[in-house]
Amino acid sequence: MIDYHLHTYLCGHARGRMEDYVKNAIQAGLEEIGFSGHFPLLHLSDRELASNLSIPEEKFPLYVEKVLDLKKKYPCIKIRLGCEVDYIPGCEEGVVKRLQPYPFDYIMGSVHLLDGFLFDHPGYMEEWEKRDVDEVYRNYFSRLLRCIRTGLFDIIAHPDLVKKFGFLPRFPLDSLYQKVARALQENNMVAEINTSGLRKPVKEIYPSLDFLKILCKYRVPVTLGSDAHSPEEVGKDLGKAQKWAEEAGYKEYASFSGRNFRLLPFPSP
Ligand SMILES: [Zn+2]
Ligand SMILES: [Zn+2]
Repeated sequence: MIDYHLHTYLCGHARGRMEDYVKNAIQAGLEEIGFSGHFPLLHLSDRELASNLSIPEEKFPLYVEKVLDLKKKYPCIKIRLGCEVDYIPGCEEGVVKRLQPYPFDYIMGSVHLLDGFLFDHPGYMEEWEKRDVDEVYRNYFSRLLRCIRTGLFDIIAHPDLVKKFGFLPRFPLDSLYQKVARALQENNMVAEINTSGLRKPVKEIYPSLDFLKILCKYRVPVTLGSDAHSPEEVGKDLGKAQKWAEEAGYKEYASFSGRNFRLLPFPSP
């Protein structure tokens, strides 16, 4: 089994030594893991906020070096170099330039920010109360589509993160799910099944089963991630993620190397 969504203390809001993430993964019997540190938030002028949310730009080379060192030190487990890029319109060129020097296995795109509204941050609950939930969902999905259509990313992280706090829209989401699925298919991208939603107020894996069934219909491959922000969370609920995938119709998952993927069968339970 694989876990492609591991953060580290370098992200500012996660904790634990990177090596402990690896050790726990080996102990949990994972075959393959990937670090997906939050890519520096280039657009934020508030440097303190930026360094709480992402790896500071000056520390990014250190992050890469550490992952590559761990790769060498622990040949008994496949360790992939990834990162999670917050998609901010207008920052595309800066992102490409800064990603270019490194030998990534995959790059995740994600949306956590809607023009200053950090909708997945507990500090923004009051803002949620003030907003029209339907409109937040529409903005979220239109931003997600823009993120996918940049063609810069390999994996879309936690595709329906907007549901995290359990605020639900009053309109059906099927047509938006279909648009996302089609865009992922057209861009040869993979969708992440992310178990961290189970640990959040919504208490559901990202994406929802309805969404995942549509992704499967459009033949969008999947990968799995715990979104671990501490070593103890490595591999968390991956068995549930596999069941979720199988229930939606998947039999395989995507394994990345050098920004290409191949499909491997799920292990039998
Ligand atoms: Zn994080
Ligand atoms: Zn994320």
